[in-house]
Amino acid sequence: MAEERRDQRGDREARDAREGAQEVGEPWGRSARPEETEAWEALVATARRTVSDGLVVGTSGNVSVRVGDTVLVTPSGVPYDRLTPDDVTGVDLDGRQVLGSLVPTSELPMHLAVYRATDARAVVHTHAVHATAVSTLVPELPLIHYMAGGLGGPVRVAPYATYGTQELAENMLRALTGRTACLLQNHGTIGYGATLDQAYDRTAQLEWMCRLWLTASSVPGLAPTLLSEEQVAEAGERLRGYGQRG
Ligand SMILES: [Zn+2]
Repeated sequence: MAEERRDQRGDREARDAREGAQEVGEPWGRSARPEETEAWEALVATARRTVSDGLVVGTSGNVSVRVGDTVLVTPSGVPYDRLTPDDVTGVDLDGRQVLGSLVPTSELPMHLAVYRATDARAVVHTHAVHATAVSTLVPELPLIHYMAGGLGGPVRVAPYATYGTQELAENMLRALTGRTACLLQNHGTIGYGATLDQAYDRTAQLEWMCRLWLTASSVPGLAPTLLSEEQVAEAGERLRGYGQRG
């Protein structure tokens, strides 16, 4: 096992030299607790799903999950299919690294801002193509489908700011007011939930709605009918009860 681990490490050093991933040195602080190890596996599975479902190309997105006051997060620049159970990367709510030796995602400020401001337990950020296209066209996704109700209402676009900055995190938080997902202008999506699956599903629904709006609004000479905020709010009420009835 130790042998195997050394091989993986050697492997990674070679890979890092190629791909620019950074190590911050020896593993930080403490070793992962069993619930963190389990959450890490689920996080890696979700991150891989964003790639296999086409929401992310390469490592251009990131995923995090909160376990107690620790936030596990995908490291910067490591392809998700190369992440192992030993790569657990975690920070506290102030962003100090407490687990692992890989550098956390550069989008850490956005993830931490969501955890500080909401009851989120998981956050998914992508550069999904249709959602990103819509973020360049409008300040808010037109109400093309009632599933917007599942995200808290009309999905806003956070004004552009450089990736990884506090300014972007602040713009994002404003756009997330009363919502569980938003678009980031000329950048992508961010969504959160009580679980990794919920954060993922909301992101996938948002990308789907953006694709739907682009498709409907690209028919020459025709404009799609839109729903009212009331209609979407009513659907949102029903969606909240969905799946909880016996
Ligand atoms: Zn990004």
